[in-house]
This record gives sequence, C-alpha cells and structure tokens, in this order.
Amino acid sequence: MTITAEITKRIYTLREQLNNYSHQYYVLDDPSIPDAEYDRLYRELEGFEKDYPEVMTADSPTQKVGAAPLASFTQITHEVPMLSLDNAMNESELIDFERKVKDRLKGDLKGTEQLEYACEPKLDGLAVSILYEDGQLVQAATRGDGSTGENITLNVRTIKNVPLSLRGTDFPKRLEVRGEIYIPKAGFEKLNQTARENDGKVFANPRNAAAGSLRQLDSRITAKRPLELCAYSIGVVSEEFDLPKKHEAILQRLKHWGLKINSDMAVVQGIQACVDYFAELGGKRDGLDYDIDGIVFKINDLKIQQKLGFVARAPRWAIAAKFPAQEEMTLLEGVDFQVGRTGALTPVARLKAVHVAGVIVSNATLHNMDEIARLGVKVGDTVVIRRAGDVIPQVVSVVMDRRPIDTVAIEMPLNCPVCDSKVEKIAGEAVARCSGGLYCAAQRKEAIKHFASRKALDVDGLGDKLVELLVDAGLIDSFDDLFHLQLEDVAKLERMAEKSAQNLLTSLESAKATTLGRFLYALGIREVGVTTAQNLADHFGFLQRIQQADEATLLAVPDVGEIVAKHLLSFFAEPHNQSIIEQLLKVGLSWPESEPVSAEEIAGLPLAGKVYVITGSLSEMGRDDAKNHLQTLGGKVTGSVSAKTSCLVAGEKAGSKLTKAQGLGIEILDEAEFIELLRHHGVEGV
Ligand code: NAD
Repeated sequence: MTITAEITKRIYTLREQLNNYSHQYYVLDDPSIPDAEYDRLYRELEGFEKDYPEVMTADSPTQKVGAAPLASFTQITHEVPMLSLDNAMNESELIDFERKVKDRLKGDLKGTEQLEYACEPKLDGLAVSILYEDGQLVQAATRGDGSTGENITLNVRTIKNVPLSLRGTDFPKRLEVRGEIYIPKAGFEKLNQTARENDGKVFANPRNAAAGSLRQLDSRITAKRPLELCAYSIGVVSEEFDLPKKHEAILQRLKHWGLKINSDMAVVQGIQACVDYFAELGGKRDGLDYDIDGIVFKINDLKIQQKLGFVARAPRWAIAAKFPAQEEMTLLEGVDFQVGRTGALTPVARLKAVHVAGVIVSNATLHNMDEIARLGVKVGDTVVIRRAGDVIPQVVSVVMDRRPIDTVAIEMPLNCPVCDSKVEKIAGEAVARCSGGLYCAAQRKEAIKHFASRKALDVDGLGDKLVELLVDAGLIDSFDDLFHLQLEDVAKLERMAEKSAQNLLTSLESAKATTLGRFLYALGIREVGVTTAQNLADHFGFLQRIQQADEATLLAVPDVGEIVAKHLLSFFAEPHNQSIIEQLLKVGLSWPESEPVSAEEIAGLPLAGKVYVITGSLSEMGRDDAKNHLQTLGGKVTGSVSAKTSCLVAGEKAGSKLTKAQGLGIEILDEAEFIELLRHHGVEGV
C-alpha cells in the first residue's frame, strides 16, 4: 500500500498526541483523557504502522515503555528492563494470543498438550522494582521508561506491607522483587474525601492516587497514603541461586519471604480456561477491595517463557486481557438540578449516552456547586465519566483540549425546578436548598419514601416507584394520606391490581404499630438518624416530652449536639409539623410508651461510663444489634475513636479505627471476645 500525505499527517499527529498524553499520565500523574481514549489512539497508530512498516521509528509511542523519569528524582538503571504488556481487548484477541504462541513454539508442544497459564488480577497502580541484598531492602525504583526509573527507596520504605527485611534465611543474596503499588478502593475514597474537605488535590482514580502518592519528593507525604504492594514477578536474582522453574512457584517463594501476592490468582490449562477465569473474576470485580483493569495471563513454564522472549516493549509470553473501561469521555449536554428530601439541590450531568464499564450512562452526579467550580466544568465540555462498581457515575474531569468556544457556565437556579419556590443558600453549607418544604412535590416524594423505608415505618411493598406514582396521581400530599388510601384508587395505578393494592393497604395497617424511635426517625427531621431517634426515645420515653423539651434538656441526650437540638426545636415549633404529628396519631399510629431509664438506673448498669466504638464487619450480628446490646448494658456507643474511647470492638476487615485505637493503647475486643463480654453480662441468644 502506498501511503498518502493525509495518513502521514495523521501518524505524526497521533505520535505527538500520544507522547503528550503519556507525559501527563506517567510524569505528571494527571491524565487529561481516559485510558480508553488513549488506547483507541494507540491502536489507530499501531494499525498504521502495521500497514505501512516504512513509517515505523524506534521512538514511536508504540515502541516505548512509559516515559522518562522525572529529573527531580535520582535515577536508577534497571539491570533487567521493566517492560509493559500487550493487551487483548476481547475474547478473540486472547485466543489469537495463544495461537501466535503455539505457532512460535511449533513442534515443542506434544499433540494435545495444553499450555499452562498463571492468571493474575491486573491491579491498577504502578510498577515498582524493589531490590533486596542479603535480605535487606536496599533500593526501590519506578519503571520509568523501562530501562531507567526513579529512585523512590525512601518512599517505598514507608509502605506498611513492604518488608524491610525478608523472612527466613533461604533467600538469594540479591533479589529484585517486582510488583504493583496501589491504593485499595476504601483508602482511595477516604483520601479524596479528605482532599475535598481541605481543598487538597482530588485524584481522578485509584491509579493516579497511587502514582501521585508514591512519586513524592517528601516521603513523609507518601507515609500518610494508604499504599500497598502486591508482588507479581522478579527481576535480577543472584546467579548461583536455584529458583523454581515455574512462575507460580516463584510467587509462592516471594510469599514465603514475606511479600504479599494476589490471593485470587490461579493456574489453569489452556486458553479456554483463561477465558473462563476472566469471566469469573469479571463477575467479582466490583466486590474486590482493590481496582483491577484486567487479568494478566502468563505462560507458567519459565523455559517456554525464555523460548518466546520479548518484543520491543512487552514479553511474548504474557498478555493483559482488559475489562470494559471504567472511564470514558462524552459530551456534557446540560445540567439538571434534582431536589432531595431535605430540599437540597444536586446538579446532575445530562450526558450524550456513552458505554462505561459495560452499561450505557447518560446521567452522572456533579455533587454540588463547589464540585462544579473545582472541576471548572461547563455545558458543552467533553468530560471524563467514571463508573466503578455500583457507585453512581461521576464526572471526574474536563478534557480541556476539547473545549469548544461556546460552552455555557453552570448556574444554580434561583427557583426550585420542581415547585418554583425560592432556592436558599446558607453561608458555610456546600448545598443550596429549595425552601418549599412538603409543598414541593420532589421533597414530598423523598420524604414519603423515607417515612416508609425499612428503618422507619417499614411499610412492606411501598417502594420508591409506587410512592412516585401515588404523589403524581395526587393521592398523597402528606404522610397521613397514606392511611386514607382507597383500594380502588391504588388498584388503578400503573402495574397495580386489586391484590397488590390490598397488600399495600394491609402493610400500611400493620405499620401503624411501631416504636417511638422509628416514628421519630420516619418524620425525617434533619440530622436525626436512626441512632439519634432511638436515643431520644430512650431518654424521654414519651413523644410529648420530646416535643416540649428545651435546648438544655435536648443536649443531655447522647448524640444530640447544638445543631441537632436546633433542628429538633425548629421542627417541633413549626405548626405544619405539629399538625402532621396530630394527623398521624389520629389515623392510629401507636407505640408502646415507657418510662425513660433514670440516670441512677443507668449508673448501676455493668458497662456504665464506658465508651465503645464498633468497627469492621461482625459475622454473628449486625452492628445495630451490637450497639443495642452495649447500650442495654449501660455502655455508650460512638462513631469515632478518640482518647475518650474505652474499648474498640473490631470485626473482620477493621481498618483505620483499629490502627488508631492500637496507637492510643485502647482495649480491643475481637468478635469472639465481644460475644464473651455480652454473655458474661447475661445477654441471651448471642
Ligand atoms: P499496562 O498497564 O497495560 O500493563 C503493564 C503494567 O501492568 C505493568 O507495568 C504493571 O504495572 C501492571 N501490572 C498489574 N498487574 C500485573 C501483573 N500481575 N503482572 C504484570 N504486570 C502487572 O501497560 P502500561 O505500559 O503500564 O500502560 C499502558 C496503560 O496506561 C494503558 O491502559 C493506557 O490506557 C494507559 N495510559 C493512559 C494515558 C492517558 O492519558 N489516559 C496515557 C498513557 C498510558
């Protein structure tokens, strides 16, 4: 094929763009386009270079690994180059990979002999090389451009699961461990939340967060970041050392020497089993504690690996099969403002529909106006959307070099888009609110959904959709209308029939018998969650006493601070709310009333004066139950660990609270010890 001037120009443009994007990604840890777009441009260039081999140059982005190290770090030359991996974007590319391997191996495989693969989840972080001499960590480096990386020894030494000394004595004199440094999902969310609260740098995804955290000139900053290492291969090893002959066996050795390896890895026979493993892990992807962007399949036999060798930037014996990308880019066509239960207006991005992580996305949250300002986003922009797991899709950045000249600034409406009431912004609060209260149909719907929800009145069969239909049909304006619903009106609604309508009415009838705590929570008073509502009920015993309480009396209740007290006082002072309560009592809502537990009685309980925090997951009971048991025994339960905490109950996967409690020397009980404590104090059925 003869090359045209147009194609030549396109090739130059692609190379320039890819180099530029690589610099932003690898050097600045601040990509401006999603990986999916980078991969499309990369593959386009690869296609041209295949069709017109004469245009290939040694410095083409398709021949390079990563990017040159940052000059502010000292540099380390890798004794064995650190390569990248070829990608398979779908099943047929994976099957094609094995076909090519088999072609290369020609007669080496006998008859029906299968190739053996090590299957490893592809963690989305950045590659590091860590050198141990005589079992001591002496050096650590980034991959850099594959031959030279950045010296990040001090930073890597701060990572908790990187051993500074190898375990045992049977390790080689020199051993270079290679692996991925990454930030688990929970750590990432927390890091960004803290950054948002403190106007710090918000990272687009866990990979950027890991890279940005590791490549710090001040290792004290790295030490504060929740980084982890997962080892997946070795580089240089003392020649005299006798290593196992299979990749997976080497990883087991690394584990034996104290390094973390991936517990979800597997060894399988033949590419079809790789396809199955890919599907299986794909199904588990959202539930994993860490982000993965694919699966790496490696030929397990080192002799075969050697025979296959390398091409410019990747080994021929491994392939990374990619999952559908969690980030994509698309056009921001407009912004709608959604009104929530408390009237808060949330800007929602209306997007040109785009496939992200396997589903079509046409809406994404923009959180609030502060977030819009932080992103600098305008209508008409091309934006990067991230959809990870079940989390609502988010706009994470703007592709500035695709910004047209006619973008439109996003402004908070002055009036509620649903009821036209004035929108109010309270100084110091990030959100603006519709002032319409229950007059606003949107707030009404949300309030009724909350009223009927599981921890409130728990009305079986009254789901979100049905509440919307009931409000839209004008059948309910306030909570008590629910209890006046007529069978024939409900049966007429979409997807309802006489039987389902009757079931709803029966559920509503039985929901009338409730508890004071549930009733208070159901009212939807701002900042009054399940616990506070229960505390109020326990403390006062009777609704009337709560309605009549003054600020000082309210402040005596556990969990009630000045803000909550203020919300309670203004809620009960509002005539409209008083009439709602009256109507609800009139239709028959009731609960067993009880005398509150007196201060003297509490003081006499076995755990009186002790402050507990519960963290991690308990397998024998829910956290609410655990809390109830402690409270019944006179203990106080709070949400965060401080010097005032007497004891931490730490379930499975306890994280930062456990570390903090250990640091403060606080008593820690695991689940078994906790149950022992409850039994000791006579709690039955645990
Ligand atoms: P890669 O991420 O596709 O694969 C190689 C890397 O995988 C290794 O270096 C290692 O870090 C990692 N890895 C994870 N688990 C592994 C395991 N078990 N065994 C071996 N390696 C494992 O390749 P790359 O060269 O690091 O980067 C290319 C990727 O970076 C592409 O997905 C591309 O989209 C993205 N990128 C994006 C931009 C952008 O602007 N958005 C720019 C450049 C590159």
